[in-house]
Amino acid sequence: MTIEEALRRLMPVVPELLPGHVWLAGAGPGDVGQLTLHAIAGLAQADVVLHDALVSEAVLALAKPEAELVPAGKRCGRPSSEQTTISAGLVAEARAGRRVLRLKGGDPFVFGRGGEEVLALAEAGIPFRVIPGMTAGLAGLAAAMIPATMRGINQAIIFATGHGAESQHASLNWEAMASLGQPIVLYMGARRIGTIARRLMAGGMPADLPAALILDATRAEQTVTVTDLEHIAGTVGEGDEESPALIVIGRIVTMRARITDLISQAKQEVLF
Ligand code: SAH
Repeated sequence: MTIEEALRRLMPVVPELLPGHVWLAGAGPGDVGQLTLHAIAGLAQADVVLHDALVSEAVLALAKPEAELVPAGKRCGRPSSEQTTISAGLVAEARAGRRVLRLKGGDPFVFGRGGEEVLALAEAGIPFRVIPGMTAGLAGLAAAMIPATMRGINQAIIFATGHGAESQHASLNWEAMASLGQPIVLYMGARRIGTIARRLMAGGMPADLPAALILDATRAEQTVTVTDLEHIAGTVGEGDEESPALIVIGRIVTMRARITDLISQAKQEVLF
């Protein structure tokens, strides 16, 4: 079967985005290859696409030419307190009888406020569908050649947000998390990594525990820097505000060098 035939065969299983309905979809970490069929179908049918700043241009280019693209999200220059405005916007667009796609980076239910938006839609009686996406924590690790789980290394993996790490009320118990001895994948952690790393070390994580910074995962600009827990804050630097940054802490990070060393010894080509 050709790729075209395979895609044609899948067309009938793609649901229809009806007027007055909202699809809350994940767009993945940036690479168009990681969009789901349902997300593509949403882009192709929507009259209006309300998207996060993290949704890449290459993804938005798949929308109908006449579709209205509306930036809606914290990084789009709006404070987070406008979350209610975004939810109200979704309800208003649906009530106006438009086909609405709410598109978020990664997965809509992973650190994406998708839960709040779905609550607002349910409360307003708007029909909606939730379309999962490839979350950065998994796609980013794969793109950096770091297995999320590795037999002999870890039995669990922690996805945590660094957001709020310095606030006494919202802060996680980093010392307790350190004591679990399992790798931590940190979303939105670049700004607070200094505090977080200190607290993880206070909780017993060794200073020389491997750590990686993955910027712009799955995009052409992707960079991966491997260091250790003690030096990760210095690695993040100040210039990374613009690029989405994922921080991975734990022995799974050592797998990257093991894999890439073997590849370079064999002069083998690796395809992503
Ligand atoms: N819902 C998204 C996460 C939103 S929070 C998801 O499931 O992936 C935003 C954070 O996600 C960023 O601060 C960064 O830590 C991470 N992130 C999203 N896309 C990324 C990418 N392409 N590369 C690295 N990190 C990314």
